[in-house]
Amino acid sequence: MKYIGAHVSASGGVENAPLNAHEIGAKAFALFTRNQRQWKSSPLTSRSIDLFKERCAAYGYLPSQILPHDSYLINLGHPEAEGLAKSREAFLDEMQRCEQLGLDRLNFHPGSHLNAFPIDDCLNRIAESINEALNQTNGVTAVIENTAGQGTNLGHTFEQIAHIIDRVEDKSRVGVCIDTAHTLAAGYDIKTTEGFIDTFDKFDKIIGFSYLRGMHINDSKKDLASKVDRHDSIGKGLMGLTTFKMLMNDPRFDNIPMILETPDETIWAEEISYLYGLL
Ligand SMILES: [Zn+2]
Ligand SMILES: [Zn+2]
Repeated sequence: MKYIGAHVSASGGVENAPLNAHEIGAKAFALFTRNQRQWKSSPLTSRSIDLFKERCAAYGYLPSQILPHDSYLINLGHPEAEGLAKSREAFLDEMQRCEQLGLDRLNFHPGSHLNAFPIDDCLNRIAESINEALNQTNGVTAVIENTAGQGTNLGHTFEQIAHIIDRVEDKSRVGVCIDTAHTLAAGYDIKTTEGFIDTFDKFDKIIGFSYLRGMHINDSKKDLASKVDRHDSIGKGLMGLTTFKMLMNDPRFDNIPMILETPDETIWAEEISYLYGLL
């Protein structure tokens, strides 16, 4: 089964996300459980939590179809003590919100070295941050997203992600989300049939499909190895449609949330039905 959806708005409360997803015919959705551009946020109310769970049940969304995304401010590999502490505290709060909502995974960008220390040290620090959060929570998997490699962001190679996973103590609660736009921008040519096959062979050898907990399905405004993260609507960017056809017809991507983070939300419903049409 393919679960296609989009990163929908949770404005007015997390309980609005399943509603917004249902309205566009999504079989999966992503959301922010707190304001993604602020450090502080108020706790979820029990009314919000109950309504969220009720609506997920009513519209048929299981935890395996929901991929919450953490705040963009968090840097679990921060080189300085203060920035690191703040990030770890916020990440723990994000994980706890997922626990409260009955969700089983949290998607995040691994972190940035900010040119302040070596890449391996930063990767080790990210793994330590994940270990700390996992030790203080239950039932929620930390899902590392691959990045485009813009600036000093890490996680743009499969090897870097494998390095982090290798140092996570509880392997049952660490996973990976692959973003198609980031993959292309990072230098993996998934635009062609051969390139797609080769990239996901590498993914399987270096990380392993057993860790795959979600996908972000985006076209890209920037080309192969540009290291620039700019999403585009499906079929409107430089990806071409081969990638999406291959994805939709490959059972290795079954039963995980596949989330559109494309820029024009007015066409999400169309994009979802278009993708299902590729089956
Ligand atoms: Zn992301
Ligand atoms: Zn993404």
